[in-house]
Amino acid sequence: MQSISPEIIFRGSNAWEKALPHIIELTKSPLILGRSFYTNNLRSKIFRDLKNQNLDVNSASLEFDCCYEDISKVKSIILNNSHDSVIAAGGGKVLDSGKYIADCLNIPCITVPLSASTCAGWTALSNIYTKNGQFIKDVALKSCPKILVYDHKFIQTAPSRTLASGIADALAKWYESSITSSTIDDGLVQQAIQISRVLRDQLLIDGEKAFKGEFENSSWRNTVEACGLTAGLVGGIGGEKCRTAAAHAIHNAITQIITPNKFLHGEIVGVGLLLQLRLEEMKNNNKLADQSMKQLLGLMTGLNLPITISDLGINVFENQNLDKIADFTCRDKSEIHFLPFEISKQDVIDVIANFEQQKIKI
Ligand SMILES: [Zn+2]
Repeated sequence: MQSISPEIIFRGSNAWEKALPHIIELTKSPLILGRSFYTNNLRSKIFRDLKNQNLDVNSASLEFDCCYEDISKVKSIILNNSHDSVIAAGGGKVLDSGKYIADCLNIPCITVPLSASTCAGWTALSNIYTKNGQFIKDVALKSCPKILVYDHKFIQTAPSRTLASGIADALAKWYESSITSSTIDDGLVQQAIQISRVLRDQLLIDGEKAFKGEFENSSWRNTVEACGLTAGLVGGIGGEKCRTAAAHAIHNAITQIITPNKFLHGEIVGVGLLLQLRLEEMKNNNKLADQSMKQLLGLMTGLNLPITISDLGINVFENQNLDKIADFTCRDKSEIHFLPFEISKQDVIDVIANFEQQKIKI
């Protein structure tokens, strides 16, 4: 069974207004789920609009990440108040929590991404973290959300940092799926990889213009939709065979180190992506990896993205951090083992140590 996309997608300016009549048909008593203080105004608007349609609406906030503590708290609110749907309005962690909770309770989920930071509004997947933000596992859900509302006016209100993060996460689709899945003899998987290549090209052309330019010009529109929609489509068509690889494995490992400053998913994935390319160069003698690295470094610098693990506020040479990161990256179930060549813990240590020590030139 494969769930390729949300049942209905509304996109563009005024997508929320267009979605409203369909939402009213689907649900009588929704719970709006959010988290960030910065999205309060938008969530209040969503609340008011639904209330004005005479829906029995309620709202709840996550205290931490998409973690079991918050999930069970929100589940009880839904069960105690007999809510019949979840409207998840926020970034990736909120969307993942809403989808996971709706899936557990067999009620529909409506996703309303409030930034372009991930494709979580689209996919049938939730990443579970501890309440301190340490990655635990990803969970495949029964289906993609029932309705996805990708309202450009909402996305515009997000800090530009979220767009840069979304670009790094969407770029990883190509670099990870092309190396893990290019030998899979399945037409849909091959086509999904080709879509991710076009997606990468689009981001290399438009990403920086979108980040620095005006809202709603064509670069901005193409970029936010590439991050929030197309990246999700690649996962939907490619399914579990269109796999993540080292970039996400290294992301998951970096989240194990608790730091005072939180970084966004794509910001950490971007660092993982550069390290993956170094591994490809070192272990697979891939000459193109160095070219890709230079191209990516240029774009990532233009987007003010972190480049090294120390940019993420972690000194790998302290507290056995390097050892901890390499251990988690190479654990049994890690996606790093989807790479078509053997990777040992020492390889990861060497690549990271080397990368952190050298002055990176663009
Ligand atoms: Zn990701």
